[in-house]
Order: sequence, then structure tokens, then C-alpha cells
Amino acid sequence: MKVGVLALQGDVREHISSLIACGVTPMSIRRPVELEQVDALVLPGGESTTIAQLSEVFGIFEQIKDRIADGMPIYGSCAGMILLANEILDAKQGQKSFGGLDITVRRNAFGRQVDSFESDIAFDDGAANLVRAVFIRAPWVERVGAGVRVLASVDEHPVAVRSQTIFATSFHPELTGDHRIHRYFIEEVARPALEKVK
Ligand code: GLN
Repeated sequence: MKVGVLALQGDVREHISSLIACGVTPMSIRRPVELEQVDALVLPGGESTTIAQLSEVFGIFEQIKDRIADGMPIYGSCAGMILLANEILDAKQGQKSFGGLDITVRRNAFGRQVDSFESDIAFDDGAANLVRAVFIRAPWVERVGAGVRVLASVDEHPVAVRSQTIFATSFHPELTGDHRIHRYFIEEVARPALEKVK
């Protein structure tokens, strides 16, 4: 399985390391011809407005949107979650997202005081182990549409959600060395979807 990491801004290298640890071949994606070569895509953490703007500059914005709509498996962490949301609160003026995931997110939701924090949270993948979650100026989910499953929450606020082939976390599993979240994306989201297509 070829998995791309959108490599315009953000913690690309960390996602690439996590994907290698999960046994897939990651590829850095900047241009449309590169995106054509991958089966699935990861949107890194970083700054969502910058990533959206650079996607337009690199001429890849619409293609990402179309591939999401076509069912390409995609995982977004933090800024990546914002980029997948259909609706953004506290957005910068004119901020665009790829969309596809029927949620409303609030940017920088945890507030200034708790700008960044770590927590062990329950992740509903069938295993009972807690996941170490790193939050850095993270969004939370304020509304989930029909068909969106909440997989983890902090104080009642959803922080991991999934709808079919779209998966998003407001935290950064790529920064912890615990590869369960990436493995969940590869084995539970991407692989079943790609096998169905074949
Ligand atoms: N606050 C950032 C944004 O709005 C996201 C932060 C992150 O990815 N760690 O894009």
C-alpha cells in the first residue's frame, strides 16, 4: 500500500516514521502527479490555513478534495482534522478546508491556558489500552453528523472521529512513538477500503 503524507508544512517527517513502523511505504506529496501514485493520504499537524493555502499554490487542493470524495482513505491529525472538517469555528477569515467529514471543529479549542498538554485517553478500537495523546493548540469537535463515529473524547469533547474512509484525531500520535493510531488507520480504515475496491 502506498501512503502519501501531504508535505507542504507541518510534522511530515514524524508521520513518515510512524508509517514506516506500520510496514507501509510512505511518500511525500506536494504535486498532483505524486498524489496520483498513492492509495491513501495523511494530512499532518501544523497550521491548517497555511497547509490549505500552499495546497492551492501547488495546484493540489481540488485534487485532494476530489479524491476524498471518491473514497480515498485519509487520516488527518490536528491541523489535518481541521482540513477534513466540513465546518470550522474560529477559522481565519476565508479559511478553506478539503472537507468530506461531516463534523464541526473549533480551532485552538482547549484555550490559551492549556495550549499544549498530554493525556492518556481511551481509544475505541476494540483494545483496552490507553493511548498517549499530545495536544498542541488542538481543535475539538463540537458537532458530529450522522454516520460519524466518535472514537475518543476529552471532557466530553470528541477528539478522534471516523466516517467510512475518513479518520481524524485532534492529537498527534506521530509525536509519541506509539503507533497504534497509525496502525488503526492502515489496518482498519485504509486496507479494508482498498481491498473492497480491488
Ligand atoms: N492550531 C492549528 C491550526 O489551526 C493546529 C495545531 C496543530 O496542528 N498542532 O491549524
